Amino acid sequence: GRDSRWQMNIAGLGDDRTLVHLVDRSEGHAAERMRVDFVANASHELRTPLAAILGYVETLDDDAALSDPATRKRFLRVIHDEAWRMHRLIEDLMSLSRIEAEKFRAPETAVDLGEVVREVHAVVRDAADPRSRDVVCDIDESLPPVAGDRAQLSQLLHNLVGNAMKYGRPGTPVTISTGRGPGSMIRLSVEDEGEGIAPEHLPRLTERFYRVDKERSRSVGGTGLGLAIVKHIVERHRGRLDIRSMPGKGTNISVLLPPARLS
Ligand code: ADP
Repeated sequence: GRDSRWQMNIAGLGDDRTLVHLVDRSEGHAAERMRVDFVANASHELRTPLAAILGYVETLDDDAALSDPATRKRFLRVIHDEAWRMHRLIEDLMSLSRIEAEKFRAPETAVDLGEVVREVHAVVRDAADPRSRDVVCDIDESLPPVAGDRAQLSQLLHNLVGNAMKYGRPGTPVTISTGRGPGSMIRLSVEDEGEGIAPEHLPRLTERFYRVDKERSRSVGGTGLGLAIVKHIVERHRGRLDIRSMPGKGTNISVLLPPARLS
């Protein structure tokens, strides 16, 4: 029945056999499955850089490699990069669990989105990353504040701008804009002229560790958690996430947030 735990799918196989497929539809089961997958994925993601670090440290612990400055430098570089990769992953995992823990407490501070945009823009511009030169802002100064958690909104914007820079074509602009959305919602958008995302990937994009191209994500320093964090922040703000993309042309990700209640 409609509310039962088991869904039965029955199909004739064309001969005298019948296929009966039982699907467990209960919430609890799906949530448990996701939790198990998540722990397995997170462990795997942490194990890969750790294995590289251990491998290179062991190879370095050998006089031939140690006495050659070029080899030493190259190995230390890899160890450094892989350790940073673990660091980013652990930071993102901790962010996710903090945001999830706060899920049921709606943020009520009045936040000026324009200020968040200016602050994030200043941070990315100061960063050594040459791609950050192309980030431009288009802020609607007449917008009312949103009901939000300032630190989380700043993290959300950082993740979106980071992705736009990572997956944008070098030399093309990344635009951060604010404006009015449908109803009384306030819109925050990040747009890039990059490789875009094929439509079949869109529904799964905010899943933890889902990537369109794993190697590509890895080489640009992604953790696979950025959009999952964005999704959780949007949910906590009772907002909506709108991802539009044209493969080969670019991507526009908009977040719609409710305005702060005037009291
Ligand atoms: P990652 O750390 O891999 O960037 P995210 O959760 O931030 O993880 O994003 C998931 C995947 O979505 C990315 O691996 C990438 O394939 C795709 N993606 C995200 N943002 C963009 C974008 N602006 N343009 C193209 N692809 C994107």
